Amino acid sequence: ELTLSQRVGRIKPSPTLAVTAKAGELKAQGKDVLSLGAGEPDFDTPQHIKDAAIKAIESGFTKYTPVGGTPALKKAIIEKMKRDNALDYKPNQVVVSVGGKQACYNLCQALLNPGDEVIVPAPYWVSYPDMVLLADGTPVFIETTAATRFKITAAQLEAAITPRTRMIWLNSPSNPSGMAYTKAELLALGEVLRKHPNIVIASDDMYEKILWAAEPFSNIVNVCPDLYDRTVIIHAVSKTYSMTGWRIGWACGPAKLITAMNDIQSQSTSNPTSIAQVAAEAALSGDQTCVTTMVAAFKARHDALVIDLNSVPGIKCLPGDGTFYVFPNVEGLMAKLGCKTDLELSDLLLEKHLLAVVPGSAFGTPGHVRLSFATSDKVLKGSVERLRQAAQG
Ligand code: PLP
Repeated sequence: ELTLSQRVGRIKPSPTLAVTAKAGELKAQGKDVLSLGAGEPDFDTPQHIKDAAIKAIESGFTKYTPVGGTPALKKAIIEKMKRDNALDYKPNQVVVSVGGKQACYNLCQALLNPGDEVIVPAPYWVSYPDMVLLADGTPVFIETTAATRFKITAAQLEAAITPRTRMIWLNSPSNPSGMAYTKAELLALGEVLRKHPNIVIASDDMYEKILWAAEPFSNIVNVCPDLYDRTVIIHAVSKTYSMTGWRIGWACGPAKLITAMNDIQSQSTSNPTSIAQVAAEAALSGDQTCVTTMVAAFKARHDALVIDLNSVPGIKCLPGDGTFYVFPNVEGLMAKLGCKTDLELSDLLLEKHLLAVVPGSAFGTPGHVRLSFATSDKVLKGSVERLRQAAQG
């Protein structure tokens, strides 16, 4: 019998992609499924970005590039990090990867040894724990609730740190909660991390631009500049510019770690697609109006959706700070419908009411579901109606 590696036995396929696949199957059978499962903006990639890629193809820019990205894209990234985030990086502190996901993966591979612990605040992006496991590390979860807007406190962080802690994932604004850490909250976490110089901070800033909190965006290095030497910023054009299929992300951080990530990439995928790199450069250096337009649409949908959800018996939804997700508590609905878990509830919603949502357990926070509002107002209204029908039993 064919046996597989122990490594692959530790992980599961991405649950968010699984929901989308299941909803897709039902749709293919002709069922009128509404899906709030998507992890990507519903807008088209802006035209000037597409044009840059078309020009790249036509001019023959279709060969290998340097593994860690073209000098031109690295320059655009360095300028973006300076302009938007007031952070200085040199080209050897930047690696361009196949989406933010590969940057996260390479980081784990470059940093972790067997038994190293990685702190993962829950609810978390589904891939963090599995990427840690694939690198022989051990995820250590910190649970949160709506009471802290799904954010960890300094006391929780302090209690989770052991001599084996090697890294922590921070993701603000967060997929799936939609919450962003305030400067004061980041400072409190930074004060704990200052006492533990062995811990590397992975700051996943993927949703930086999709934000409507009272405070402008900050990451932990903005608030604690002394943590610069051990923070890796992960970013991508995927969400900001509606470019999920182009697969361009990057990491900025200490040169030694970035070089190691580059070396790993050189032995796995080599460079990200040449054409997509040109598109990403156009996105970062071009007119940013497209971002403002998309964010305004997300914000308007968010505001309407939160009100609508809270009008459904058994659902309690906090307004978020950004992203295109809300993460309501559905324990009331579960109780009403006799569902023991959020997985059961999600299955019931899909099979009986043709509504696809992602169960909170997939993100380490049971009793909730993640709803994506990267879809039309019509689908959102229809989805709330299906939830209301479900709540009526
Ligand atoms: N990090 C977070 C928090 C995400 O939500 C995602 C995408 O779902 C990623 C990273 C990966 O993004 P990309 O599509 O650029 O690989």
